[in-house]
Amino acid sequence: CGIVGYIGSRPAVPILLGGLKRLEYRGYDSAGIAVGNGSVGVFKQKGSVGALEVALQASSSMLGDATMGIGHTRWATHGDPSDRNSHPHTSMDGSIALIHNGIIENYSALRTELRSQGFEFASDTDSEVLVHLIDSIWSSCPELSMEEAVRKALHHVDGAYGICVISGRDPQRIVVARKGSPLVIGLGDGEFFIASDAAPIVEHTKKVVYLSDGEMAVVTRDGYHVKTVGNEAREKSVTELDFDL
Ligand code: GLU
Repeated sequence: CGIVGYIGSRPAVPILLGGLKRLEYRGYDSAGIAVGNGSVGVFKQKGSVGALEVALQASSSMLGDATMGIGHTRWATHGDPSDRNSHPHTSMDGSIALIHNGIIENYSALRTELRSQGFEFASDTDSEVLVHLIDSIWSSCPELSMEEAVRKALHHVDGAYGICVISGRDPQRIVVARKGSPLVIGLGDGEFFIASDAAPIVEHTKKVVYLSDGEMAVVTRDGYHVKTVGNEAREKSVTELDFDL
């Protein structure tokens, strides 16, 4: 339902939670974040962003040091609203975290195939196939970049998606992709924002790039580049948002 991402030099958790609050108007049943801090740390649960924030404050986690991460508000389509079905979903070794808006139409066939390869599923969602598919491709070809592993995975997927992926195997970037589900990149000064609409971004920057269907982006602290899922480079125009908060 709602997607946010941040990579920069400021603590990521408050920025992600603030962004998720700006997306609450869309409605949702669960919320979660994953942050990169050497390894990937995930916090997610059924209920409100405010409740997630309270749970995070009560935990003695080290997520507070992280300066990059992704966040999601879920509107369940496949699998009940529950802690385990909340996003982000993670690879079995915990090193890849993924959030997804939309519906993966061929998730059942993909899940059967991945189970036969030994992948165990921790949720009832359609979305979880994506993270195991990326893991399957990346683990069998570790020389691939995260971007390439995500691109190859998406070639097997039918359906609609807006996704953000982070990994401890390649911790200095966020890989995003969209098909039928919007994504916007906000351009700051040494920091970048990602969201499913501009609402979480405008308080940080007015410069945005709207991804088109079939496009992917790799976002680092130094910049971003956009290609198609078919691996063609794309020049994107920067849009200057002209509304005030
Ligand atoms: N289909 C996914 C799920 O049920 C994502 C739903 C959403 O867009 O929030 O978990």
